[in-house]
Amino acid sequence: MRASDCFAQSYAVARQKFLDAARAAGAALTEFPHPTALGREEEPLAIDVALVGAPDAPHCLMITSGIHGTEGYCGSGAQVALLRDATLRAACAEARVALLLVHAVNPYGFSHLRRVNEDNVDLNRNFMDFDQPLPDNPAYAEVAPLLLPSQWPPSQADHTALMQAIAARGMAWYQAAVSAGQYQDPDGMFFGGTQATWSNYTLRRILARYGSNGGAERASFRWIDIHTGLGPRGYGEPIYMGPDDAAQLARTREVWGNGVTSMYDGSSTSAQLNGVAWLALPQTLGPLPLLDYAGIALEFGTLPIAEVLEALRGDHWLHLHPDADENQRALIRRAMWQAFYIDSDDWRESVVAQVTDAVEKGIVR
Ligand SMILES: [Zn+2]
Repeated sequence: MRASDCFAQSYAVARQKFLDAARAAGAALTEFPHPTALGREEEPLAIDVALVGAPDAPHCLMITSGIHGTEGYCGSGAQVALLRDATLRAACAEARVALLLVHAVNPYGFSHLRRVNEDNVDLNRNFMDFDQPLPDNPAYAEVAPLLLPSQWPPSQADHTALMQAIAARGMAWYQAAVSAGQYQDPDGMFFGGTQATWSNYTLRRILARYGSNGGAERASFRWIDIHTGLGPRGYGEPIYMGPDDAAQLARTREVWGNGVTSMYDGSSTSAQLNGVAWLALPQTLGPLPLLDYAGIALEFGTLPIAEVLEALRGDHWLHLHPDADENQRALIRRAMWQAFYIDSDDWRESVVAQVTDAVEKGIVR
């Protein structure tokens, strides 16, 4: 098997490869069509779910792609590789692990090369309790005018002002200000929304349907959520997905090793975030640790963070300036593509090897 054959350069082709590989593997497929949005080529959009193995298997290992839209080109290719891996499927069957592959949690962003969804919402900040007051992010408000200036690319003066702010406050402050999530500016960056989005609701439907074992609790539930855009090129950083709890972190490191980083203790390249997707699990299936759960994000590095953030700034600038001409639109889209996907065989092979390794470790024996 060539790893590169598993990957695609459009949502429609990625989806077709996923569906074909799932059918060939004998998976049960379920489609959750998007009710309103269309793709970049006006193609239909959906979240597709492939269940490999017995529906009532005691263990479930879920692998999600495309929570961050355009990051799905990586995760989708890895999912196709898993579906084509007969040895891995046999190991899962023997251990009575059902593999649950959720393709393109944010299909709109996947197709349109955006990290956010059709509502400009960052899904990985959207799993909040919207009945409670939403957190304030004054640092974002402070830096927002510098992030999204009136012209793109930024003028020299705008660029200098941003560099001065970063020099004064530090790169960690900048990364947290931008990426922690904000709930005040619906057209801004890393906006977490003011209500549960369609993808949020649908992911919880999927968890409600597959998270339990025919009405009984699963003996275990493992979750690997594939992302790109942070960290060294080609390295998949396993980032702990769970509450700020030492026992739960230790349990997660038992599964995936001591290389698992945490945003709570500063060991991760990720800033501390609000409303992240793993919260869908307790929101749907009940509070932890009632459920035997362990989960990680696998965050594959692409370009240096400054370049990734610049691509995201351009993307949001375009969102605010829909009248931009076609050339500028194409340049901004290209920068987004390059920031979240490395179009080379060594990167793709490295992704597949690391995702396969993480799935093997996630098999409860
Ligand atoms: Zn991501």
